[in-house]
Amino acid sequence: TPTIGVLALQGDVREHLTALAAADAAARPVRRPEELAGIDGLVIPGGESTTISKLAALFGLMEPLRAAIADGLPVYGTCAGLIMVADKILDPRSGQETFGGIDMIVRRNAFGRQNESFEAVVDVTGIDGGPVEGVFIRAPWVESVGADVEVLAEYGGHVVAVRQHRVLATSFHPELTGDHRVHELFVDGVRAAG
Ligand code: GLN
Repeated sequence: TPTIGVLALQGDVREHLTALAAADAAARPVRRPEELAGIDGLVIPGGESTTISKLAALFGLMEPLRAAIADGLPVYGTCAGLIMVADKILDPRSGQETFGGIDMIVRRNAFGRQNESFEAVVDVTGIDGGPVEGVFIRAPWVESVGADVEVLAEYGGHVVAVRQHRVLATSFHPELTGDHRVHELFVDGVRAAG
């Protein structure tokens, strides 16, 4: 059973812990750099990416996490977590930094005010058994990707799920739906990497 951390600085940590347990992983929160030792993968939850960025710097996690991801730690980011694994943000708030890991440019709050939160059916490459219910909450989209990035899903003509090597990211929140297939996809990838 792989041990998967959930970055527990801010955001919907509990929902990810539950979804990971349902996907047959041993899940535990990670707040301090020492807690990165012994995890086989890491989830970065949805929430507010500016807050996660500031707290990561405050807790001394920015450099250790960047290094771990560059070293091949499997990571799955949802929504704000997708922003945190982007190599570049189109419209960062001042001082907002990311861990990086996926060669992409993301646009924060991309779907606009009319569409702050919505649900949509999304077909995700690699997920069997039909589309997933995508919950989008002030969601980012992926503006552009580098050559090594796999696009796994689009919605409304915009890229909303991607993978590069061991880093997976979705604009939407599978942890809020009770459908654990995206978490299973990630956990399977963690098993294969180990
Ligand atoms: N809009 C948030 C951000 O920019 C993301 C929202 C979410 O994670 N649901 O970080």
